[in-house]
Amino acid sequence: MKGPLRSILPALIILAILLPGPSEARSDSSVTKARVNGQRLARQIEKLSEIGRNPGGGVDRVAFSEADIKAREYILSYLRKLGLMVHVDEAGNIIGRKEGKEPGLPPILIGSHIDTVPDGGKYDGALGILAAIECVQVIGEQKVTTRYPLEIVVFSDEEGGSIGSLAMAGELPAAVIQTKSQSGKTIGEGIRSIGGDPAKVALAARPRGEIRAYLELHIEQGGRLDSQKTEIGVVEGIVGIKHWEVRIEGVPNHAGTTPMNSRHDALLAASHLIIAINQVVTGVPGNQVGTVGRIRAEPGAPNVIPGLVVLSLELRDLAEEKIQSLYLRIRDEAKAIEQKTGTKMTFIPIEPASRPAPTDPRLRVCIARAAENLGLSKLFLPSGAGHDAQNIARLAPIGMIFIPSVGGISHSPKEYSRPEDVERGANVLLQTILRLDQGCLQEGR
Ligand SMILES: [Zn+2]
Repeated sequence: MKGPLRSILPALIILAILLPGPSEARSDSSVTKARVNGQRLARQIEKLSEIGRNPGGGVDRVAFSEADIKAREYILSYLRKLGLMVHVDEAGNIIGRKEGKEPGLPPILIGSHIDTVPDGGKYDGALGILAAIECVQVIGEQKVTTRYPLEIVVFSDEEGGSIGSLAMAGELPAAVIQTKSQSGKTIGEGIRSIGGDPAKVALAARPRGEIRAYLELHIEQGGRLDSQKTEIGVVEGIVGIKHWEVRIEGVPNHAGTTPMNSRHDALLAASHLIIAINQVVTGVPGNQVGTVGRIRAEPGAPNVIPGLVVLSLELRDLAEEKIQSLYLRIRDEAKAIEQKTGTKMTFIPIEPASRPAPTDPRLRVCIARAAENLGLSKLFLPSGAGHDAQNIARLAPIGMIFIPSVGGISHSPKEYSRPEDVERGANVLLQTILRLDQGCLQEGR
């Protein structure tokens, strides 16, 4: 057997087994054949990363900054060039829509973000958007018209608290609008500067059930895929994150004249607490993580016993109950430390907490099958980092695809994913979109 026939024969056999009837078989052949243009995608990633590039090679494109606005203009014109219907919603989300064959069907959303952390990398967020655009471009070039409308969504200010996706989920707390963003503008001023309307962000909310499904391709930002030499991550869910500000009150006093046995040292109590947090979190099986990332001691002088310590506590896990049970055990430990050190500890929850968001099990199957059919290795794994998908999970079934981050490095100029991995991830995204369009959500194929 020669050339093209031999190369598509295995796919045809699989299709013959899987497909219910000949009419779907015809449309499915376009599904298995379609591939992204990896070089074009790599070029686009380079090009977008030049907007906000700093001398050290990192990308400074925090939300609402000049670079963010410039990058958004670049994406807007790209979407228009592809002939999509483009608009910016009240929360500043960019939405590019390609109509489907059947009017009235709910859209398939494909999204991510293009803002970065200060001195960030080229791939976090940008990959998901540029791959989504590449997929829609290829679908157009292949002259495939999907049944469902396709919508590319560039969510506003992801790194500053997933503002755009929270608004789309109808869950952006009003008070957040007044808070300062990394750009120096308030969130409200920022939303206005990118074409949204802070007074009307509630209108950006989309009703539950009016989105067929949401897909996001992202770099892993951890090292599991890279260290296990696996090509594709099928994300099981995004861990929930809870934060507390812990205030520890002791008694400030003279460091020279106060004997050791009559001190109420807030910083000493804090030290005991930090160790206790680590012991509680590591004391049970699972992937949960707990971190004290910030600490401040007052008055902060070498010759004064610290009277007040304020520290941060963050807990993450795929199950909300797990986070709660860890927290309760930490509180028990805190009580014992209060007594031992003569201090008082107060735990203040910081909102908004993000709830764990499992991905849709049927979509995991669609993604896994897409990867298998492309001959790619895969791993099911949780996401320890937050993503826009977790907010959209309240509106629609979500699916997430990860590609390896070399060395597990992210939020850094050293963030890197190989072009072949970028291309593989984008092909899995493309295949998943087409499979979704052809009913994999009902049939799990
Ligand atoms: Zn991201």
